[in-house]
Amino acid sequence: MIIHLKENTNKTISQEIAAKYEAVELVKRNKTILVTPYSVKNIDEKYQEFIEHSWVAESDIQLASNKYSSEKREITIGKHKIGGKNRNTFVMIGPCGVESKEQIEMSAQLIKECGLQTLRAGCFKPRTSPYSFQGMGEEGLKILANMRDMYGFPFITEVRDSTHTDMVIDYADVIQIGAKAMYDHGILRKCGKANKPVLLKRGFGSSLQEFVQAAEFILSGGNEQVILCERGIRTFETKSRFTLDLCGVAYLKEYTNLPIILDPSHAMGYAYGVPDLARACMAMDVEGLLIEVHPDPKTAKSDASQQLNHDEFTKLLNTLKPIANAVNRTIV
Ligand code: PEP
Ligand code: MN
Repeated sequence: MIIHLKENTNKTISQEIAAKYEAVELVKRNKTILVTPYSVKNIDEKYQEFIEHSWVAESDIQLASNKYSSEKREITIGKHKIGGKNRNTFVMIGPCGVESKEQIEMSAQLIKECGLQTLRAGCFKPRTSPYSFQGMGEEGLKILANMRDMYGFPFITEVRDSTHTDMVIDYADVIQIGAKAMYDHGILRKCGKANKPVLLKRGFGSSLQEFVQAAEFILSGGNEQVILCERGIRTFETKSRFTLDLCGVAYLKEYTNLPIILDPSHAMGYAYGVPDLARACMAMDVEGLLIEVHPDPKTAKSDASQQLNHDEFTKLLNTLKPIANAVNRTIV
């Protein structure tokens, strides 16, 4: 149950209600919101005078539910907004990992030439093997920050574990929580206190319910700016790296109030399939696409097989435009 208390409700009362119903307490624009476990369906008569309105949830998807708040959350990234009444679709591109200043400068140049605005690249890579490239760490964040100064582009970069969460929150414009980190409650809770948008990727072994519940950790921490990212789940199929769950995307659109970004690159795992998949993603009428693009994919230190080169991306972007048009969206 989500309970909005009246503005002047005294702290002792709100704490008493919170304690009685084991609620998480949130303060938003001088108003206290209490989120109880969803099993709570009503509140004692004696507290009614303090309640402005309340909403009973059907599951532990509460703040993210569009039955609680029907409008998509509006999130500003750089000069543009997604969600709300906006019909923008962000196309976020860049290499899997920051490898050098020269490489990121080429990516920034491509973004500028394409009329896009958001640079994405990882500095803390969550690799499956300890012997693979782990990312440039803070040095990489400095390169991205430098590019933001030069080009004015916001950047999105991932946090791998809680040892550097604060650092990534400080540098990034959008914090990415990767698929493997989706269950890291240290990261989720810190991002809940951050005042920046968070892109939460779906763990490849997670149900949609678990995915949105992870988002609830960030929302219930007080951060309203959460974006969901579907990047493929593990199925019995081995010919593609993962299986992009577009049915799941339809579910998230229908039942949540969170903007959605799709990542065809990690789902497919092979560059040959990315353009078709990216077009299918655009047709899903979502708030963004995240596509890995590298100046010279074969030399990439991570995810070499799936990254598009600059020419391939430019061609793809031209074919995305009419699809964006068809679903009444503007690519930014
Ligand atoms: C990435 O975005 O480069 C990445 C590691 O993605 P994921 O967490 O989806 O595997
Ligand atoms: Mn990658």
